[in-house]
Amino acid sequence: MTAQKKRLLTGLKPTGGSLHIGNYFGALKPFLDMYGEYDSILFLADLHALTTVRSGEELRANSFAIVRDYLAAGFDPSKALLFKQSDVPEHAELAWILECLVTVPFLMQAHAYKDRTAKGEEANAGLFNYPMLMAADIILYDTDIVPVGEDQRQHVEYAREAASKFNNAYGATFKEPQGKILKEVAVVPGTDGRKMSKSYGNTIPLFGTKDEIAKAVMSIVTDSLPVLPVTHKNETFPAKNVYAIHKLFRSEDELEKIYEENRGKYKNLKEILIEDIDAFIAPMREKRALITDDVVREVLAHGSEKAREIASAKMKEVRQKIGLEL
Ligand code: AMP
Repeated sequence: MTAQKKRLLTGLKPTGGSLHIGNYFGALKPFLDMYGEYDSILFLADLHALTTVRSGEELRANSFAIVRDYLAAGFDPSKALLFKQSDVPEHAELAWILECLVTVPFLMQAHAYKDRTAKGEEANAGLFNYPMLMAADIILYDTDIVPVGEDQRQHVEYAREAASKFNNAYGATFKEPQGKILKEVAVVPGTDGRKMSKSYGNTIPLFGTKDEIAKAVMSIVTDSLPVLPVTHKNETFPAKNVYAIHKLFRSEDELEKIYEENRGKYKNLKEILIEDIDAFIAPMREKRALITDDVVREVLAHGSEKAREIASAKMKEVRQKIGLEL
C-alpha cells in the first residue's frame, strides 16, 4: 500500500476581476502542477467574499467566473475536492466556536484588520473575525498543508493557534496545519516592463480573444534607440519587454534564433508573440466557453456533498466535546 497522501487545502476568493497571464504563471500553474501530489481540497470562499462584496449579482457572477477559470485552466475535479464554502454550514459554526476561544487583542493583530484601520477606515465585524473563519476552513478537514505566499503565513498561524486553543481546552481534536511557503515564482512583467498587474493597466488577459491579445502585445513598450550591443541577453536590449513575455511561451534556444533573425524588427517579433500566446490560450479559452453555469453548479454540488460528510463528522465530535450534544 502506498503511504497516505497529505491533505492540502486552499481557498478561491470570488472577489472579481479577470485573470491575466501573470496570475496564471504566478499562481494558477504552480497550483495545477502540485495539487495532484496531495489529497487536495479546494473551496470557493464565498463567505469570505461577503466582507467586501455587497451585491448578490456580483458575488454570483464572480463565483461562476473563478470556478470556470480553474476548470478551463486544467483543474480536474475528479482528482480533488472542489466545493462551495457556504454549502457547508459547519464552517460558520466552527468559526463561532473558535471566536469564543480567542481574545480581541489577538484578532486585532491580523494584517487585514490592521491595514484597514491604519487607513482610518472602519472594519466590519466579519473582517475582524475572518481569521477564525479561515481557521475553521482549514482545521475542519484535518488539513496538513496550506500553500501560502510569504505574506499569508499569518493565516496558518491563526489556524494553528485556534486548533491548539481548542485542543488544550477540550482534548486532542484538531490537527495543527503547516504552511507550505510557495517557492518564489518569477514575477511576470507586463507590457510596460513593470510587474504585470491590473492596477498598472499593463496586463495580457488569460482568456482574452486574439484581438485582445494582439492589442496588449502591440502596446508593449520597445525602445527605439539603437542600444548596443543588440542582444536579448543584454539588459538594455530594446525589445527586452517583448522577450521577457515571450520567454513564458517558448524555450530560450528557439527565441535566440527568432530574435537574431528579427533584429530591430519589433513588429515581426510582436506578431510572432501574438501567435504564440494565442496558440497557448486558445484551447483554454475554447474550453472555458463550453463550461456552462450548470456544469459549475454540478461540480460544486458534488464536491459540497463530500465536504459535508467530512465536516459534519468532525463537528459531531466537536459538539460532543463542548457540550452542545445532549
Ligand atoms: P492579485 O490578484 O494581483 O493578488 O494576484 C493573485 C496572485 O497571482 C498573486 O498572489 C500572485 O501569486 C500571482 N500574480 C499576480 N501578478 C503576478 C505577476 N505579475 N507575476 C507573477 N505572479 C503574479
